[in-house]
Order: sequence, then C-alpha cells, then structure tokens
Amino acid sequence: MKNFTIALSVTFFSMVTFAQQAKTDLQKAEALLKQMTLEEKVGQMTQVTLAVFAKGGWGNLDGELDPALLKKAVVDYKVGSMLNTTAHALPIDTWRKLITEIQDETKNTRLKIPIIYGLDGIHGQTYTLGSTLFPQNIAMAATRNPALAAAAAKVTANELRSSGVRWNFAPVLDIGRQPLWSRFPETYGEDVYMGKSIGAAVIKAYEEDGLRNPTAVASCMKHYLGYSASRTGKDRTPIYLPEIELREYYLPQFREAIKAGASTIMINSSEINGTPVHASKYLLTDVLRKEMGFEGVIVTDWEDIKRLHTWHSVAATPREAVAMGINAGIDMSMVPGDFSFYDLLIEAVNKGEVKMTRIDDAVKRILLLKMKTGLFDNPYPEQASFANFGKQEYQTLALDAAHEAMTLLKNENNFLPVSKNKKILVAGPSAQSISALNGCWSYTWQGKEEEWYPADSKTILQAIKEKAGAANVITTTGKGFDNPMNFDATALTNAAVNADIIILCIGENAYAESPGNTRELALDENQQALAKAAALTGKPVILVLTEGRPRFISNIEPFAKGILMTYWSGKKTAEAIADVLFGDYNPNGILPFSYPRSMGEIVLYDRKPTEDVREVFNDDIHTGYNPLYPFGHGLSYTTFEYGDVKLSTANLKADEKLTVTVTVKNTGKMDGKHTVELYTHDLYASITPNMKRLRAYQKISLKAGETQTVAFTIDKNDLAFVNAQLKTVTEPGDFEIIIGKQKVKFNYQ
Ligand code: BGC
Repeated sequence: MKNFTIALSVTFFSMVTFAQQAKTDLQKAEALLKQMTLEEKVGQMTQVTLAVFAKGGWGNLDGELDPALLKKAVVDYKVGSMLNTTAHALPIDTWRKLITEIQDETKNTRLKIPIIYGLDGIHGQTYTLGSTLFPQNIAMAATRNPALAAAAAKVTANELRSSGVRWNFAPVLDIGRQPLWSRFPETYGEDVYMGKSIGAAVIKAYEEDGLRNPTAVASCMKHYLGYSASRTGKDRTPIYLPEIELREYYLPQFREAIKAGASTIMINSSEINGTPVHASKYLLTDVLRKEMGFEGVIVTDWEDIKRLHTWHSVAATPREAVAMGINAGIDMSMVPGDFSFYDLLIEAVNKGEVKMTRIDDAVKRILLLKMKTGLFDNPYPEQASFANFGKQEYQTLALDAAHEAMTLLKNENNFLPVSKNKKILVAGPSAQSISALNGCWSYTWQGKEEEWYPADSKTILQAIKEKAGAANVITTTGKGFDNPMNFDATALTNAAVNADIIILCIGENAYAESPGNTRELALDENQQALAKAAALTGKPVILVLTEGRPRFISNIEPFAKGILMTYWSGKKTAEAIADVLFGDYNPNGILPFSYPRSMGEIVLYDRKPTEDVREVFNDDIHTGYNPLYPFGHGLSYTTFEYGDVKLSTANLKADEKLTVTVTVKNTGKMDGKHTVELYTHDLYASITPNMKRLRAYQKISLKAGETQTVAFTIDKNDLAFVNAQLKTVTEPGDFEIIIGKQKVKFNYQ
C-alpha cells in the first residue's frame, strides 16, 4: 500500500511538473513567434533531407557535410528540420558529429532556433551502425505482447537519442487488411484492436519518460489515414473507403495513439475517394484537430506537397499545391530535396493565398515540439545518453522478441521438434540470407544490402549448425537470397539422399515501400519448384517461411511435416528459428492476420455474415471464412485446455462492467506461453455485425501441469460499432463472448 501511495504521488508530482513545463513552453513559444519574420516562420515549416547539405549529395557515403550547403540550408533558408541518411546507416560518432555541426550552424542565425532531426526507427534504430534490430511490427503483433513491444521501443528510443536524434518516424499504425500491400510487414496485422493496443504501448514507451529526458523520443503516428487500403495493393495508389469503413477499421488506432500522447503525425501519401489526404481539410483539420483533439505537429510524407501538383494533379501549379496543403492543415513539409517549398509558401502568404494565422498556428506547434524535446535547453547529442547505445541486454531482448514472434503453423503428428542427431539438409534462398530475416528499414531503406549488418548476425544455416553440429548439416545453398545456387532443385534432390530431414527456408527477401510492390502473392515459381523437388525426395520437409506478408503456399503445404512462420524478426531471427526447430524454445506466436489460401480467398477474420455463409451451387464455390490458417492460429509443443468460460452477469446494463473468466491448464509436458483471446459477436444490429471482433487478449506463462485463471473486464465500448449515421454506438441486444471454441451468450440493455 505504501509503495502504491508513493508511486501515486510521484505520478501526480510529475504530472504537475509536466503541466507547469507545458505552460512555460507555451509562453516561450508565443514570445518567440512574435519576434519572427515570415521567412523565419516558413523556414521552421521546411524539412530537408541530408543529401541536400551532405558533401556529394546522394552519393555521400560517410556523412561528411558540405559547409557551404549547410549554411545555405540553415542560415539562408532558415530550415527548421532535417531527416534521413544519404545511403545507409552511419557510425554513431558520425551521427553525433553531424548533429553537432548542424546545431552549431544554427548559432549563426538571428534567433538561434535549434533544428529537429527525424529518422525512421521502424524496428530499431535503422540508420546507426550496430543498433539493435527487433522484429518488424507484423512479427511483434504475433507475440501478442505489448510489454515486449514497449521494451523494444525503449531501446529504439535510447539508440536514436544517443545518436543525437530526438524524433522517430514510428510507429506505423496502418492496418494490414490488404496482404498485397508492400508495407504490410510494417503493420500490426489485420485487426483494429491489435493496432490500438500495441500502437499505444509503443508510443508510451517512446514518450512517457518526458521528451526532455535523454531516454525518450517524439513519436510519429503514421500514415494518417487509410494508407494501407490501396485498391490494387500497390504502394501510394488510390484508396476508396466509405467513411463508415474508415471510421470502423482505420481511425481507432490513431484515436488511441493520440490518447497515449503521440507528439506528431505523418500523412498518407495517397488519395481517398479522389482527394489526396495532404489536401484534405476535412481529415486534417476537421477530424484530426477538431474531432480528435490532436495538438501536435502534422508533417507531410516524402515530397507529398509537390506531388499534389506533379502526381495527383489537383493543383495546377507548385504554389497552388503548397497553399492547398498548408490550408488543409499541414504544419511541416518534408520537401525534402530542395528549398522550393520555402520560396513558394512565402509567395503564397504575400499574395494572400495562405493566412498568417495558419502559419503562426503551424510554427507554434513546431516550436513547442522543439521545446518539449529539450532542444532549446541543449540541442547537442547528450552525454547522458551515450551509455545507452548497444547495451548487451538489448541482444537478450531481441532474442526474447524473436522467440515470441515465431509462429508454428503446422506440426503433423508432432514431427517437431527435430532431434539434434539427425542428418539435416538446409536448403532454400533464406538459408544464408541475413536480409531475409530482417526486412525493410534495416541499415538501409530497403534492408537488402548485407554489408551494413553487424558482423555477428547469424544465418539460419549457421544457427542450425551450432545446434545440430556442423557434421550433421549439409546444404545446397550459397550466401545471399538471390544466389543462383539456392534455386538449384537438382542439387537439392541429389543432396537429400544423404539427409534424414530437409529444412527448406523460403519466402521473401527484404523490400520497402514501392520496390516491394508485387503482382503475385504466390511464391516465386523457382521457390515452388524447390519445394516440389523437396517433396519428391520422400524425406520429411519442414518449411521455414521468412515473409513480410503471407505468400500462398497452399500447393506445397500438404506435404510439409512442419511449417514455421518467422516473419522478419530482426537480429536474432536465426537463433530463434533454430531454438524452436530443435525444441529449446516452445513456440507461442500466433498469426496477426488470416493466412489466405489463394487470391480468391482473401477473407478477414472479422468478416461480415454473408462472407461467412457456406454455399455450393454447381461449381460456384462460396467457401466463407476458409483461410489456410486463421487469425490467431499458432501451435505449441505443449497443450492447453480451457475450463468453462464464466461471465459475471448474463444481463449487462448501461455502463456496468462485464467480467469474463476462464481457467487455462497446461496439459502437456513442456512449460509454455499461451495467449487467451476474447472476441465478441453482436448477433443482430442495424449494421451487419462482424462475425467476431477481438476485444482483449492476455498472454500467460504456464508450467507443465499448471492452471491459471485469466480474467477480462469489458464494457459497452467493447461492443460498439460505427452506425449508418457514422456514430459509434452500442445497440441493446444479444451478444456472444467467444474464447477458443466456446461461445457464451449475454444480453446488453
Ligand atoms: C515513407 C515514410 C518515411 C519517410 C522518411 C517515406 O517514403 O513513406 O514512412 O517516414 O519516407 O524516410
């Protein structure tokens, strides 16, 4: 009790100091704003990329700055923000030197306003050599462990901050309902609650220490709004979303993230129903600012104001594009390759196309962000943060996270785990690829260039050799995913003669954004051919899938004895795979998406009733929800049994809480972790109800033979949906709680 009281008063005390600090910051920002010229204000709204002032531009490989270009950016154009690297990750000392030189240059400006630098620390600090890379969001969602995601986010914050950077362009809150989309791996999967729960935990982890503290970074929710719903699945292509769908599936994560304290937001590069989001006053000002009360900085995505003219063709001139974006509600333009935005915005203000009040509003928010992140106190890399880079314990955390992400999809007759004295053939393109285990935003944007990964990064082949002994392991593979040796089916057939088991490592190599566009979700033909060759050997085959998004495996799945979905799980993926395959770790990841069978069977778990009907008329097969593996699927080496699901009441009223309890027993012989998921089903509603909606989940650890009771509390908000009037409502009526195979009815009035 005493500890609780102390904790409470500490929290209260820090809330008071935060509030006081916010008031002082506001007064200072307002006073500073009054002294600023139009040019100084517009400079603050301008963000340029490192190539603009690095020696040699995009060709720059060592982070050396060009003093004349730096002066041009900081002094002449009064630029307020910078981002990115030129080609790849840089040594930490280079980042510190570079940030120091930039902040030094601000001392030559009239008002000496510090620069805020932003980077994409998507699954770890991407652009500092030797940083710790964790599982991608899709894999983090498979862990069903927000505390683990938060712990990884704290490391990312520390590794950014110790590099001198205080703004992280993460987390991605786009929902993964279109598996063709090349940024699917950056999402928390297909479910709204997953995005809400993990997204909020990650944002708190980045920011909760207080942004003045050298352990925190400003987060950036992205990409508002609907970015992932591209009709074709191609990155940055048109989205058509009725508002009811937008509000039901795409908006709630952002609402939750704002509540969690996110400081900034980045906008979707694409268009919704014909309006580019960067030009949507409705979405940026009416919904984001007025309805959701977001007070932080709104930044564009890459070049997106220019593209209102050059790509979207809604602005007839570049200046019209600038005015359109700023009037819609943008505060800062990621220009980022030149200073055109600066010149055009000044012109637009002088011609009366943008009001000074809008400029002041934007600049005040930017100044506040800089104050909040402590840049006005000390803009330089902070000595106090230096020891927080590359700690040994981060490696342990990376392994924990990779372990918990591993999702065992199939284990025929408990074929796995493999005993260590078997002769193993390791085949397939992922066997000796580091990039296929890490994916996008890994030391480079695309993550493909392996020379930048830490020297102690392991391949699957290495990790298996360490486990089973090099003498027991043979391979037909060479280094790198695209190595032609990896696709030699004849070599595989011949080598298999000497093996007891084939571990076939297939899937996707790294990709990011548009370069990851694909015309097919089917696996490449040469990988399918390998799998068929493996099957024909008659030896047991285990598939290891390194994938950022689900690739169809329906034609090869039937002959696999075991299938392990590894996603792109970061630095320790290979070790985690070997631990699971050989039984040194009991898998507990579960799918954050429905693994589809084929292109015509992409139905999501929260489908509507008519998507669930099973009808067969002649050859017209309507199979309902029939994925290869459903959302939430993932096997263990032990077994768990549920007792009866119990509800505190069968008649929930008004604002009352409903407590749902279930006992879980580990009935197998191995200790293990298990996630209990609670779904609701509204039986009848004014809008066709979802067949299931995830409302809560809890992950528990159970020793062999142990039983635990899991309790959930939900209320009417967990039964709500967006109705035809676009209001979030809970309608009275009958509902079901679904846990495992059990469905328990209750009524809400
Ligand atoms: C991506 C953003 C990223 C930005 C800066 C864009 O291409 O869409 O997610 O934050 O680049 O690197």
